[in-house]
Amino acid sequence: MYKELVQRLRDIYDLRSAQAVLEWDMETYMPPKGGDARSRQMGLLAALAHEKLADPRLGELLEGCKEHEAGFAEEQRAVVREVKRDREKAVKVPSELVREITDTAGKSLSVWKEARERKSFKIFVPLLTKLIDLKKREAEALGYAAGGVPYDALLDRYEPGASVAKLNPIIGQTRDITVAAVRAIGASKKKPKIALLERVYLEDAQEKLGRFVIEKMGYDLQSGRLDVAVHPFSTSFDPNDVRITTRYEQRWLPAALFGCVHEAGHALYEQGLPIEHGGTPLCESLSLGIHESQSRLWENQIGRSKAFWRFLYPKAKRLFPKALGKVSLDDFYFAVNGVRPSMIRVEADEVTYNLHVVVRYEIEQAIFSGEAAIDDLPGLWNRKMKDYLGIAPKNDAEGILQDIHWAMGSFGYFPTYLLGNLYAAQWMSAMRRGVRDLDGRVAKGDLLAIKKWLNENIHCHGRRYSTSELARRVSGEDLNPKFFEQYLKEKFGPLYEVSW
Ligand code: MG
Repeated sequence: MYKELVQRLRDIYDLRSAQAVLEWDMETYMPPKGGDARSRQMGLLAALAHEKLADPRLGELLEGCKEHEAGFAEEQRAVVREVKRDREKAVKVPSELVREITDTAGKSLSVWKEARERKSFKIFVPLLTKLIDLKKREAEALGYAAGGVPYDALLDRYEPGASVAKLNPIIGQTRDITVAAVRAIGASKKKPKIALLERVYLEDAQEKLGRFVIEKMGYDLQSGRLDVAVHPFSTSFDPNDVRITTRYEQRWLPAALFGCVHEAGHALYEQGLPIEHGGTPLCESLSLGIHESQSRLWENQIGRSKAFWRFLYPKAKRLFPKALGKVSLDDFYFAVNGVRPSMIRVEADEVTYNLHVVVRYEIEQAIFSGEAAIDDLPGLWNRKMKDYLGIAPKNDAEGILQDIHWAMGSFGYFPTYLLGNLYAAQWMSAMRRGVRDLDGRVAKGDLLAIKKWLNENIHCHGRRYSTSELARRVSGEDLNPKFFEQYLKEKFGPLYEVSW
């Protein structure tokens, strides 16, 4: 019975992977006119995967396995538990509602683009209103714990176990920690020379540096590739085929470099999943927040550390003699860690970043609790930006319309970015206890020590534990923003010569 279950899971996994291959191609090499056929092909594969997950036979097998669970190994029990969870979610939402959401999101995308171009939220209002209404129905269909709120059901889709009750204290604490840091840093007289990152950095040399770093990190190019895409991402079809993309900007060195490190961080997670459990949840990533913790750990905790640049800076100087020849390591290190409140989340530094997430999270919560009317949202956005970051957008395009998520119906997604930053700090603190002389190793270019620790402590578990069980196993306690606070103080205090 368990064998048949695994075979069926394998089929679902392969259908999804095939869909992901098509999507990767769409974002990288597909010619412009291929779009219509491609969405049809991807739609078909998604429908087939859904049918297989909803298949009554799969339900019977799960029930059967549940009954015989006593004789199962812990791993097998975890598989049954997680597949049951996935299947319940998939069958709870009526297929007409799923189709209506997909259709509306499809239409929303082009309207959102137009609204953003014309800097007018009003244009987006009718479709946004409809999408929110549909997502409220989806939340009711999915259900949520007693005493909870509908928004919980949406949060739980991206971060299993998340709820407003659990997130509010964590996000509120992160907001307060960050606002204090931003104010202290803003008052400092020390300013990084960020302009040195805007010199000419030729694409060829950028690619060489990027490839050098991701290989040092242990990203296996025999099981992966690096390509160019407008919106960089990573994707996996199997632990032996995990691909990343990046985008080169000649006059902004951080984009491709830290982009590569970020995406390779995601990719190492996927390459590090236990392939012997392929097709089952044991070979799947745990949550978006945990995924993001991998990319942010590599990008910020490692990639923007002094030790890392002690190792990499001589190479960077050789590749960009004109731009960096006369720049000291200290000036370069300060520049890549420059903090300045800005309007756009995707361009934000690691200190101000979380505040962008907080703004959208608080607004989403107000939408789904009925506290905020849709017409009031841009004003609410601008007020929160002013309160937390001290700046206000000039228009809706650099304000509420900046991110694509709502147009895709992805409400509840945002907190995972913030959780990723918090987990990254927590893992790093545990890693420092577990790996002797971590900074010394990094300064010598021994990044494999980090990969190994992440492989053994996080990647190998797949979805075996809940996020909070994983946090306790790895770090001895549940998610706690104090690690992030401590990290900010230890890193940015000395850089800006401030304390708070
Ligand atoms: Mg990411």
